[in-house]
Amino acid sequence: MFNTSNYHQILRELAPQQATLVAVSKLKSIEDILSAYQEGLRDFGENYVQELCSKQLELPHDIRWHFIGHLQSNKVKYIAPFVHLIQGVDSIKLLKEINKQATRNNRIIKCLLQVHIATEETKFGFNEEEILQINPSLYPHINICGVMGMASYSNDTTLVKNEFLYLKSLYDRLKTTHQEISILSMGMSGDYKIAISVGSNMVRIGSLIFGNR
Ligand SMILES: *Cc1c(COP(=O)(O)O)cnc(C)c1O
Repeated sequence: MFNTSNYHQILRELAPQQATLVAVSKLKSIEDILSAYQEGLRDFGENYVQELCSKQLELPHDIRWHFIGHLQSNKVKYIAPFVHLIQGVDSIKLLKEINKQATRNNRIIKCLLQVHIATEETKFGFNEEEILQINPSLYPHINICGVMGMASYSNDTTLVKNEFLYLKSLYDRLKTTHQEISILSMGMSGDYKIAISVGSNMVRIGSLIFGNR
């Protein structure tokens, strides 16, 4: 169920930073998404390709769909016609495939590069050195407009804050040489307050507004 009061609370917290809320609606029903839509939300995040495609067909066409998790290259073609922002591009192979499918669809697709900032081995993403080596001009149908990261799943707020600070500094550094860079996507239900306190301008929040999955 969509939690209207949590939603409004989060909006008040994001306003001073002018941060964008992406409502993570994976595994949530069409009805729940429509309730959120009626409250004014337009940015929704999904991380299963099939689910995203079927929801896109059923729901209003002014929704901006974000793909937020690990995306397999062979599935890019299904979302390329409509996806608003692919958050979490984590390999060169994927960049190449997105560029190819964007070209086929005569689109420029916006993407964020995922940076590995957590201590856990399992989280996807580039490291700093790899990010700095990426040459955007090789992907003319992609607009690399920022970075995304997931902090460690931990109660250690100092650790989480330091991971976010690290990504913020990398973002600032990229901005000096690439003027299209404008999105710093970090923060989820459990850690978004820390993320916005250090400069996040896009948070991806699911359970806090839609309940547990
Ligand atoms: C599921 C998910 C979220 C949202 O998680 P919550 O803890 O429910 O807010 C954010 N980002 C990514 C990449 C996710 O997969």
